Amino acid sequence: MQKMMDALVKEAPGKGLTLKKMPVPEPGIGEVQIKIHKTAICGTDVHIYNWDAWSEKNIKTPMIIGHEYVGEITALGPGVTEYKIGDIVSGEGHIVCGHCRNCRAGNGQWCKDTYGVGVNRNGAFAEYLCIPKTNVILIPDGFSEDIVSFFDAYGNATHTALMFDVVGEDVLITGAGPIGMMAVGICRQNGARRIIVTDINQYRLNIAKQMGADAIVNLRHDKLEDAMKQVGMVEGFDVGLEMSGNGAALNQMLKSMRNGGKVALLGIAGPGTVIDWNDVIFKGLTLQGIYGRKMYETWYKLMAMIEAGLDLTPIITHRFHYTEYEKGFAAMNSGESGKVILDWTK
Ligand SMILES: [Zn+2]
Repeated sequence: MQKMMDALVKEAPGKGLTLKKMPVPEPGIGEVQIKIHKTAICGTDVHIYNWDAWSEKNIKTPMIIGHEYVGEITALGPGVTEYKIGDIVSGEGHIVCGHCRNCRAGNGQWCKDTYGVGVNRNGAFAEYLCIPKTNVILIPDGFSEDIVSFFDAYGNATHTALMFDVVGEDVLITGAGPIGMMAVGICRQNGARRIIVTDINQYRLNIAKQMGADAIVNLRHDKLEDAMKQVGMVEGFDVGLEMSGNGAALNQMLKSMRNGGKVALLGIAGPGTVIDWNDVIFKGLTLQGIYGRKMYETWYKLMAMIEAGLDLTPIITHRFHYTEYEKGFAAMNSGESGKVILDWTK
């Protein structure tokens, strides 16, 4: 008889998710089965929950969603010798083709045929998940499972924050969502001089401050220029990390960069967003788009930074049992949240 499990499923187009019984996936050739311990809710999951235009276009229903998780290996498919039952693991959420030009160059994050766990194939908001062994990330002893549950997002933050050298540099982070909060800690640990964060959400700015920002600027009532003066800046930012997807924030960043500054873009600005190209061209700015994380170099770096003392616990604001997922999504939709973790162990 088919074994069944609980899973959070987008059953049909429209708002919301359904907690229902689904078949336990069995690992195919080269795959592992993971019993999920904890998951974290990503902004992408919120888009799918709310069913925005992006979801309408990209999600085929029914689909088990979720791609930020930690768990233990419970079964090995044929051909898997690298892992053993009981290994604590997370996983890279992009399942890539392995033979396109970028894949063969070690740039899987730019694969032209990528499949997203919890987006294009069944995901991790379930008691069990199967992924290819290539995507498994073995977690060494001593890591908090709460923190590991959002390593995928922490990977985005790491890849963005470390795209350009931040040692001794002044960094502007626009957007204090969970990735922006994590980027503050990463820049701090990697030797940034001054870090200023802008947003319009005071709750999230306060966590960014806790993560080590020198100044937080609530653009509802404060000016970035004033904060720059207060911390003693004279020329503009050396490195910009755009994490808001807001056109006004992006333009303010470009205006606030010093000549020759470098900008990493993770936030997805809406279609038709206009920037002043004078800022880019006459200032000689470098703009770099960021997608995912380096496969798999970023995973090694992000674990090493935790071992070196980076503390991400201030970012965790809510913990729920998976049956209380509605509360988790409500917290994410309220904006008064950092990372929201769902427990699948009890
Ligand atoms: Zn590929």
